[in-house]
Amino acid sequence: MNILNDIVNYAIKNKLIEKKDSIFVLNRLAYLLKVENPYSINTKYERAKNKNDIDSVLNTLINLAYDNKVIESTDIVLTDILDTEIMAILTPMPSVVQNNFDTLSKKSIQNATDYFYDLSIKSNYVRMNRIKKNIEWKAKTKAGHLIITINLSKPEKDPKAIALQKNIKETGYPTCMLCKENEGFYGTYKHPARGNLRTIDLKLGGEKWLLQYSPYIYYKEHSIIFSQSHRPMKIDTKTFSNLLEFLEKFNHYFIGSNTDIPIVGGSILTHDHYQAGRFVFPLDKASVLKTFNYNKKLSINIINWPLNILRLISKDKNEIINMSEKILKYWKKYNNKSLNIFSKTDNTPHNAITPIARRKGDYFEMDLVLRNNITTSENPLGVFHPHSDKHHIKKENIGLIEVMGLAILPARLLDEIDLVKKYLLNDNIEEAKKNKLCSKHIPWMLKMKSKYKIDEDNLDSIIKNEIGLIFYDVLKDCGVFKENNDFIFFTSEMIEKINRKA
Ligand SMILES: [Zn+2]
Repeated sequence: MNILNDIVNYAIKNKLIEKKDSIFVLNRLAYLLKVENPYSINTKYERAKNKNDIDSVLNTLINLAYDNKVIESTDIVLTDILDTEIMAILTPMPSVVQNNFDTLSKKSIQNATDYFYDLSIKSNYVRMNRIKKNIEWKAKTKAGHLIITINLSKPEKDPKAIALQKNIKETGYPTCMLCKENEGFYGTYKHPARGNLRTIDLKLGGEKWLLQYSPYIYYKEHSIIFSQSHRPMKIDTKTFSNLLEFLEKFNHYFIGSNTDIPIVGGSILTHDHYQAGRFVFPLDKASVLKTFNYNKKLSINIINWPLNILRLISKDKNEIINMSEKILKYWKKYNNKSLNIFSKTDNTPHNAITPIARRKGDYFEMDLVLRNNITTSENPLGVFHPHSDKHHIKKENIGLIEVMGLAILPARLLDEIDLVKKYLLNDNIEEAKKNKLCSKHIPWMLKMKSKYKIDEDNLDSIIKNEIGLIFYDVLKDCGVFKENNDFIFFTSEMIEKINRKA
């Protein structure tokens, strides 16, 4: 037994391949790693202690590959490409995965997603060892317990790799990170390796869509549902009906979409996609501020949340689709000068909706989150975007996942929080001011100093709690109606006008 057998055994044990495949994959791996005889490998390579820890098993192979001049350095880009290529040899072909998924889903859709999620992890497409590095806690706020995460799962590229990346030409293939042509892609300095990516075919609204898990899962079974064609994000009636159609089959998942305009949504606007998964978000547990019983079949709830959310509830999905369409139309034209809500400037639209759908027994629910992306000289990044006093914690866009109460905070915070703690404990604000990483946190530190009697035992929980409160305020910044009464008034007026038209 040697280090090559270890990866083959890992694949058998985790049901990626069968015993019958052993010699075949051993020979394929030998070719990839420039090994003459896969049965006799230099014994200087220490075998992984935990044979089911994919990183340790792959690491020994990376060392072998480097010695055999398969890779010229062990920078993260090259090793990611190589270990993906190793796993690509061991991951079943897309058609096999699709067939297994289809067979299992005849019994129960949950069995099918369990299989596919497990495969995406075992094939190392979802790099669980990196995701486990993320830091997570819950913080009590006026909106209940919000979930705060610091995202440490994306490894930093070394400067050499970044320099190399600059010199490499853009090929334009695959067109984007969400195009279906990523399945099996070999990887370059510009575009990540996707040899172990597998996708599942779906049909939504009579069109071809695909499902895959996110390689950076932020919550359990974080999935991406993307259109087969590379076309821009668009929220319209079809979106609402697609989301509910998805839930008819995947009744154990929620599904939502970012808006179709910049600033108030996700990072990819060029490829139509949704996000789904099997997770209960803080938003799911939020209380109701007011209920409007629109008719016998449909009710509209105003949710008690820092952003403005209308929750449509009905057993009849068409009731929800029709009302969602009317609300979207109404919101897109809505202006309120005194609240700085402008639906358009010149010909650029600013009003948009983040839709989120889920099942509750026989009922469908559709949350419509009202968003606006206007910018001014005072708030150049966005009026309904995290304001500058909170940029020391969060400056990035507030997308679908964060709207639901799960904060994704940048990795830089880890080091910065350590410094904040150090200077607070030493009571040395003057030194903190001189520290580049820490100076932006000074107003926050002074506030904490006056608010709490800080000591070594309580500091950690104070900081965690405080970050939760700041995240709550960040969400509040993104809300268009800051006062509940304004939102309630808007909703009653809207319902009245929709009724008059009907
Ligand atoms: Zn694309």
